[in-house]
Amino acid sequence: MKNKLKHELLNQFPRLNELANKDTVLWENTNWEKKASTNLFSMEEVGEAEETLKRFSSYLTVAFPELLESKGLIESSIQEIPLIKKALEKEFDLLIPGQFILKCDHALPISGSIKARGGIFEVLRHAERLAIASGRLTIEDNYAVLATEDFQTFFQQYTIAVGSTGNLGLSIGIMGKKLGFNVVVHMSSDAKEWKKALLREKGATVIEYEADYSVAVEQGRREAEQDPMCHFIDDENSKDLFAGYAVAAKRLKTQFEKTNITVDNAHPLFVYLPCGVGGGPGGVAYGIREIFGEHAHIFFAEPVASPCMTMGLMTGLHDEISVEDIGLDNKTEADGLAVGRASKFVGKVMETYISGCYTVKDEELFTSLGLAMNSEGLFLEPSAHAGMFGPIQLMKNGQNYLEKHDLVEKMEQATHIVWATGGSMVPEEMREEYMAKVVRVGRTND
Ligand SMILES: *Cc1c(COP(=O)(O)O)cnc(C)c1O
Repeated sequence: MKNKLKHELLNQFPRLNELANKDTVLWENTNWEKKASTNLFSMEEVGEAEETLKRFSSYLTVAFPELLESKGLIESSIQEIPLIKKALEKEFDLLIPGQFILKCDHALPISGSIKARGGIFEVLRHAERLAIASGRLTIEDNYAVLATEDFQTFFQQYTIAVGSTGNLGLSIGIMGKKLGFNVVVHMSSDAKEWKKALLREKGATVIEYEADYSVAVEQGRREAEQDPMCHFIDDENSKDLFAGYAVAAKRLKTQFEKTNITVDNAHPLFVYLPCGVGGGPGGVAYGIREIFGEHAHIFFAEPVASPCMTMGLMTGLHDEISVEDIGLDNKTEADGLAVGRASKFVGKVMETYISGCYTVKDEELFTSLGLAMNSEGLFLEPSAHAGMFGPIQLMKNGQNYLEKHDLVEKMEQATHIVWATGGSMVPEEMREEYMAKVVRVGRTND
């Protein structure tokens, strides 16, 4: 079925014009509810995911000695970034009241991105189901046995497949190969060479596409359907992925308690999450709103060339509209966010949960990359910098939102969480390439 024509869409949904023009926009979700709800997903599933991850902790410390210190927990820290806040305020000539905190998922162990939550979780859960169904494992066992050769041989019969812009493939490839699975990663044209090379080195099969993410996913899904021994990790629809991401919210609550960060009526929480197809930010947002309720205000960040979730939510069309439908090319340096069509499952769940979405230009991502390096020596990949613009967008274009929700007077007591979604595994040469781009395209050096 051919979608509606561009001019029809722009007529019916006038705000799409700004997106079609690649303007940076802040879109407010008027379906937001204090007490958000969905019948598509439940916190029970998040609790189960957390339990599953706990069962795997003994295996994980054996398979990845870097996890010994955290006792097998794959988690990242939170960190105040006052220097970056100051640098952004200066660059954009405004004040951001409240505390500026980085959620360091760029430094998550094993695969260095937010995908180390959902992606790794789904591989583990699949492994557990297979092992239990075969009678080789019970949930009372010490899962360290999964690191033995017997289990490696057992998992070798099975294949895990996935379509990815890079980081999801990396997480699933590293985890899947460690357990012994065959892994096939269908990589979109945006995927960086080093991610493909690293996967091949780990023994995964990488299939490259000239086309974008949606095509890579579709091909992967189709091939996997023909192989009964193959499990396809479906980034567009998977509840397991979503559950794995959502666990982050429970852990964040504990981190807040330990560091005396209060979230209540007088202390609002703002969270800015870079968004591709939606699973990562969606899972985190779901968990945070379930836990912190109406005091949490969540915004998704997308590149101006790939605002698929913004469009899906704005129009209510979800996966029935793509960025190409309004003439955008889905080409961005934020490779992890280069997705032209959003997940319908995530979009539907998010309807009453998120406060809104905003878009960022690539040049702003590089400006932020430069500021973060120069002020705190912090390196994040371009995708992850989309979160940095949340507080700026909110202060510049979000007055209406702040007034409507009675937040203006509370902003000095606010906490802004910028969710850093990836970067610690980016090789040195690539970092230097990015830094060279900061000079060429960053705003500061226009
Ligand atoms: C995948 C990814 C995202 C977004 O996650 P989605 O589940 O695709 O929405 C954000 N940042 C980085 C670095 C990523 O790799």
